[in-house]
Parts: sequence; structure tokens; C-alpha cells
Amino acid sequence: MPTPASSEPSADAIVVGAGLAGLVAAAELADAGRRVLVLDQEGEQNLGGQAHWSFGGLFFVDSPEQRRLGIRDSRELAGRDWQTAAAFDRPEDFWPRRWADAYLDFAAGEKRAWLHSLGMRWFPMVGWAERGGAGAGLPGNSVPRFHITWGTGPGVVEPFARRVREHERAGRVRFLFRHRVRRLIVTNGVVHGVSGDILEPSDVGRGEASSRVIVGDFERTGGAVIVTSGGIGGNHALVRRYWPTDRLGPAPETMLSGVPQHVDGLLQQQVAAQGGRVINPDRMWHYTEGLRNWNPVWPNHAIRVLPGPSSLWLDPSGRRLPFPHIPGGSTLDTLAHITGHGYPYTWFVLNRKIIKKEFTLSGSEQNLDLTGRDLRLVARRAGPAVSPSVQAFMDHGADFVVRDNLPDLVRGMNELTGERHATVDYAVLEREILDRDLQVHNAAGKDAQLAVARSARAVPSERLIRVAKPAPILDPADGPLIAVRLNILTASRSAASKPTCKAGC
Ligand SMILES: Cc1cc2nc3c(=O)[nH]c(=O)nc-3n(C[C@H](O)[C@H](O)[C@H](O)COP(=O)(O)OP(=O)(O)OC[C@H]3O[C@@H](n4cnc5c(N)ncnc54)[C@H](O)[C@@H]3O)c2cc1C
Repeated sequence: MPTPASSEPSADAIVVGAGLAGLVAAAELADAGRRVLVLDQEGEQNLGGQAHWSFGGLFFVDSPEQRRLGIRDSRELAGRDWQTAAAFDRPEDFWPRRWADAYLDFAAGEKRAWLHSLGMRWFPMVGWAERGGAGAGLPGNSVPRFHITWGTGPGVVEPFARRVREHERAGRVRFLFRHRVRRLIVTNGVVHGVSGDILEPSDVGRGEASSRVIVGDFERTGGAVIVTSGGIGGNHALVRRYWPTDRLGPAPETMLSGVPQHVDGLLQQQVAAQGGRVINPDRMWHYTEGLRNWNPVWPNHAIRVLPGPSSLWLDPSGRRLPFPHIPGGSTLDTLAHITGHGYPYTWFVLNRKIIKKEFTLSGSEQNLDLTGRDLRLVARRAGPAVSPSVQAFMDHGADFVVRDNLPDLVRGMNELTGERHATVDYAVLEREILDRDLQVHNAAGKDAQLAVARSARAVPSERLIRVAKPAPILDPADGPLIAVRLNILTASRSAASKPTCKAGC
């Protein structure tokens, strides 16, 4: 039976959500001497939310890491790149525009120094996600801007969790876990509290789906309420409700989840129902390179490949996607191409040499060398061996076909997808690969995807650990051949509210 509600006055500010946004808000408020109450529907083991699982890639502009690699970035270039991706064109984009400007100033200004002062450091090889390739005025980062935090996601959470815990010990911050907020308390148009359910204790592991059994209810009041409840990617019903069919065609039949189940969007819905202004819900950001996790943490768990530019990207019949749809190019454009054509999945075809250099898997637990800050293991990234995480997917992943020759590879691809779907035509795929392979022997040629790869190799980090030297995919010395079935995976947020991921994540 639910226990009676308590309505004790709680704090100067209530923060709903103990993810990274909630921790940052709580730390800043408590630093300013405020008493803060932090509520979260999950248990204490989940402190930091999604950020714990993240790759910790941050968006800085004109950083020392970029300059050391000879990259010339600027506020102007980053601003133009942001505009090409955001495509602001609605009246409700007024604040997103203002916010983008302020964030660009921050990323080109104090952001890195501030985080550095909190103890954060970055891997010297800056990543280049969302590299575009279609043209100067079209979406994409013109230069590498994906600064990977030393320690990945946990390394981002750590300084903020530490500060908030210190404030907790000093009595300025109080946590209430397993408190699920269901409503805002509003009087005369002023939000001054929250109410909801107390959920039964849960000892599931971090990120796992936890019980929703209610054992009580609560009510708390405070001087201000900040909602940091994350996005909607763990709630596919909501994703489908807001899916922009006009731009992307029908939502795919099958989607995987790039985020835990607690990213359920329910509080956003409630805030909107109580008069909060939720804008641009149709501007979603989902990834196109999702792998079924062979070792899942949350339901329907997908791992995203952060790909280099050399794999061949094929539709379900084995035909190459038209340029500019290349791996790591422009996620939303390629998503529109895939879902607009109703493809239930697509394929990468590559070989061992390409996978070694060009497959990075997103997530802290997929990059234990960087997460564990282990220099010896990190140095292996420049060596010949496939990373242990990628190798585990090659060995156990449901979406991988690894074979010594093309006929066997095509047979394996068709066995994997079964009769319900289009079959890969051997002759079509062989032609696609041979046409591409004929273009690798000269320093220049007519293949636009190879041109992108060649130009990327002018950046030392790309050449060293990210982009394979153009070579024939069918060269047996670089085998075995690999086909990877790619699924759409939901991400945590809408495109318009995704600042740090302008770097790609
Ligand atoms: C695998 C992975 C890799 C990523 N890589 C990167 C990257 O490299 N760079 C980058 O910038 N971003 C990356 N991201 C995205 C980034 O981690 C998230 O956008 C960010 O952490 C979201 O933080 P948040 O605090 O807004 O939300 P969350 O982390 O989702 O936290 C929200 C919290 O609110 C709680 N909550 C929700 N509803 C309620 C309710 N009704 N009552 C009480 N509590 C509630 C939830 O339990 C949760 O703890 C990645 C994400 C994932 C999953």
C-alpha cells in the first residue's frame, strides 16, 4: 500500500534527474550556497545516467589538441558547421539559435579551461565524426572536433559527482533515489514543487531496467524546479509518435535502443501537459550504424559504430548507397535516405584491415583502454591487432558475417537476413567492390568516397589510427572479408537539443 505523502519544504532548488545535466546543475547551485534536493527514479548505482556509458567525446573549437595536429578551427567555421546541421527555420528556433551562439562562444572560449581546472584531460588524437563530404555549405564538421575525455564517460561524470558528493557531506545537497516525479506542483503559474511515486528499492546493475513497483508517494517543494530527465530514446512508442514521416518516411519496423530504458521521456510529456513548452519534438537524432549488443545491459541494447570512411555501405540488395552517403558522413541525411527507401537495415562490407583501423565502438565499456586510462593498452590502437571489443563483436555479434571469400560472404549475409528480406545479389556486390577496388591504385581517381578518405589522411591522427590506406577490399592479404548488418538505433535526444554531439557521439 502506498505510504502517505510527505510535503515538508525541501530545498532552495529541486533538480529532477541525477544524470550529468542534473549533477552539473546541483554542483553549481550548491557552490552558490543553495540547498539542493536531487530526485531520480533510478537507484544510486545509476548516478551520472547516460553520461557514464558515453564515449565522453566533447566539442571544443580551436583547442590545443586540434592545433597540435595542425587543424585550424575557428568560431566562424564551427558556427557555419552548426548552422548547416541545425537548419534553423522555424519561429520556435529563436531560443535554439541564441543557445547555439552562446554554446559556440563557450566551446571556443572558457569550456576547455573550466573542465581542465576540474581535472579533466583529453586524448591527443581528436576524432572526426559527422565529417560531411557532400559540400562546403552542407551538414558536417569541416575539421575533427570530437575530443575524447581521458577516462571516457566516467571521466566526465567524476568531477561533477565528486563536487556534489562533497556538498552532500556538507549538508547542502540531498539525494532521493527511486523517487519518480509524476507531476509539477504549480500555484498561480509558478512551479514550486514536484510530486510522484516512490519505487521499491532495486539492486539491478547500473543501466539495467529496474522495477517500477510503487511503494509510496511523495511531494516536495522548493524555490525553483529544474527538470533534467533526459531524452526519449528509450521509449520507442514516443519516438514513433513524433517520427517526422514527411522528412524520413515511415519509422523503421525495427529499431534498437542506444540508451537505457530510463530515458523514457515521460516527464517531458507531463511538463508539456502542464503548460511547459516542448519544442521541435520531431527533430530527432538517431544513428544508422547500430549493432545488436552481444552482451546487453539494457533492453534491446545497441552499440553504435563510429566508422571511418572506407567501408562500402550497401542497401539490402547489395547495391552501394549513392554518394554522399558514406560511413561517418552525415547521420541525418543518411538516415533520411535509409528510412525514406524503407530499408529495414543496411550493410557495411569491409575487410580485417579496415575494421582494425576504422571501427570504433561508442561507449565507455567498449573502450576499456581509454576508460581505464591505460596508456599501454591505448598504444595498441596504433598496432596491427583488432581491438578486443571489435573482435568480440566479430566472434559473437548477431550482425556480423566473417568469411574468407566473397561467395561465402554473400551466402552468409543472405543466411543472416533470412527469406523475409531482400537477398544480396552476388553479381551486384562483386561489381560494386571491383569498381571501387580499381580506383585505389592511383593517388587520385573518380570515386568520391575514396577522395574523402584520401583527404582525411592528410590529418596525422586520421592517418595514424582512423583511416585505412586505400587498398583493394578483395586483397586476400587483408582478409577475411566482413559484412556487418546495420540497424537504426535511437539516441537520447532531439537533434535541436544536442550540442555536444555536434561533435558526433
Ligand atoms: C553509449 C552512449 C554514448 C554517448 N556518447 C556521447 C559522447 O561521446 N559525447 C556526448 O556529448 N554525448 C554522448 N552521449 C549522450 C550523452 O551521454 C547524453 O546526451 C547525456 O549524458 C544526457 O544527460 P542528461 O543528464 O540530460 O540525461 P540522462 O543521463 O538520461 O539523465 C536523466 C536522469 O533523469 C532520471 N529521470 C527521468 N525521468 C525521471 C522522473 N520522472 N523522475 C525522476 N527521475 C527521472 C533518469 O533516471 C536519469 O537518471 C552518449 C550516450 C550514450 C548512451
